[in-house]
Amino acid sequence: ATHARADLRELLDSTLTMLKRKIGKGVTVKTDYDPDLPPVPVHAAELNQVWTNLIVNALYAMGGSGTLTIRTARENDNALVEIGDTGPGIPEENLTRIFTPFFTTKPVGEGTGLGLDISWRIVADRHGGDIRVESAPGDTRFQVLLPLTEDAA
Ligand code: ADP
Ligand code: MG
Repeated sequence: ATHARADLRELLDSTLTMLKRKIGKGVTVKTDYDPDLPPVPVHAAELNQVWTNLIVNALYAMGGSGTLTIRTARENDNALVEIGDTGPGIPEENLTRIFTPFFTTKPVGEGTGLGLDISWRIVADRHGGDIRVESAPGDTRFQVLLPLTEDAA
């Protein structure tokens, strides 16, 4: 499929604008965009769903107060988008399970457990990319890698 190239900064900023009300006053948003990152071949609407899923998870984890960090960088032949939060983190025993469909630690009615499954499929199957996660109490980072060249997707 042909992917139109897009500026990740624009996609991320539009997701942040859309989520402004949900982010609320207790959460500080810090952005750090690599100005030299070239436009990336993407399915823009699908990727906006990925940013939304990751940001909504981060906001839930922080429970209304903390710092949300959005960073872009180049990593070899990939664009890297990192979404970080200062919430309690993900217990080690859950790290391998969070991408499994229907895995959720949220109360019934609050989580479907599908957000990370869908996000992973959009990134991997639709873009040839990958999602990594690093988590410690107060410092959780989801890292989305997107190939800069179309042929990988
Ligand atoms: P849901 O949000 O419906 O629970 P997801 O697939 O989006 O489903 O996430 C699965 C689980 O991964 C969450 O229930 C939570 O336990 C964990 N998780 C995801 N993101 C974070 C985060 N930023 N901090 C802590 N836990 C997280
Ligand atoms: Mg979710």
